[in-house]
Amino acid sequence: MTNTDKSVSQPRSYEELSELVKKQEEHIYRLTRSVESQQKRAREVLLKTPLGVLVVNDQQKIEAVNPNIETLFEYTREELFEKRFNFLFPEMPVVEIVSNSMRALGKKKSGETFPCEIFTDEADRVVMVHVLDITERQRLEQLRQDFVAMVSHDLRSPLTSIRGFLTMLDEGGYGDISPQGRRAIERAMSSADLLISLVVDLLDAEKIESGDFEPDLQETTTSTVVDRAMFATQAGAKSGNVTIEKDVTNDVFWADEDRIVQVLVNLIGNAIKFSPDGSTVTVYAGLEGAGVTFRVRDRGPGIPKALQSVIFERYRQLNQPKETKRRGFGLGLAICKALVGKHKGRIWVESQEGKGSTFCFSIPLLDEKYRT
Ligand code: ADP
Repeated sequence: MTNTDKSVSQPRSYEELSELVKKQEEHIYRLTRSVESQQKRAREVLLKTPLGVLVVNDQQKIEAVNPNIETLFEYTREELFEKRFNFLFPEMPVVEIVSNSMRALGKKKSGETFPCEIFTDEADRVVMVHVLDITERQRLEQLRQDFVAMVSHDLRSPLTSIRGFLTMLDEGGYGDISPQGRRAIERAMSSADLLISLVVDLLDAEKIESGDFEPDLQETTTSTVVDRAMFATQAGAKSGNVTIEKDVTNDVFWADEDRIVQVLVNLIGNAIKFSPDGSTVTVYAGLEGAGVTFRVRDRGPGIPKALQSVIFERYRQLNQPKETKRRGFGLGLAICKALVGKHKGRIWVESQEGKGSTFCFSIPLLDEKYRT
């Protein structure tokens, strides 16, 4: 800087100074307006959010609440001001800052407790606590669990004994049976098998969804998995007049073998179901990039592009072929997706209407650290 620099070395004139002050005033005015409008927006968000919001200071005391908190806990904001956080959440001595949500029990003025999900957010020496009442969600979760327990106890067990009884009849355990009787028994057995597999699908979907399932990883190979799946589907292929062929390299990977077989059995089962009489289903498997990829190709009707992602959702079924060989609840592909997801893998379909479908999934070759 030189001493010819006017702004430093020369005293400012009165006009210059008042111009500067004016500019500063305008700047401060604009800042104030922007802070005010931000505060207004924040207030609107707090009022309109469906969540209860509490502001808790570093002494664990409540500084502010939104109207939802007053409704949820039946206190007025004045009654809550300066109360300690655990006044509303007796089981939590202090607010915990967590990146995910957590569950807690809230206590109303009446003394009644209710389940909540809490999200916390730290901002400028206060913690914003967002509270969601999950009473209704828990009630529905409970209903679903009760339903699944009912299905598993009250349907699966008698179905399994009916199936066993039919096998005994079929094997002559109750004396000779006429050819007509034998055909009736076979039909009853296949209906019992169908019902059992539907119940198993329901239970599986529930188990994976409720987080009770973790894959039991072990070393396996692509051809072991394909051979097991082909063995399990050969009877279906035979009765559907479909040939299954394979094109597989024998690559080692880590996975829950039973569950990967289950995914493949499902895909091959669907392929058989949609295959025209006398056609072939081909199973490919091998290393591709950083994982192993399985593909099941059929020569069936194919799936329109717009529906290709929808079919992986629960209870989604497209038009079934007239001569349906195996009916389901639309849970099969959703279970496959969840099982592949548990292996950090991906599942998708490649298909063109009228030209068959290829269902594919890939499982990454897991790092050493995940294998224990
Ligand atoms: P489900 O258990 O009822 O068989 P899925 O979840 O396995 O149901 O399949 C969902 C839908 O995807 C089925 O209703 C069917 O319309 C379609 N789909 C599945 N596999 C095939 C296939 N190989 N070819 C044509 N459509 C298929």
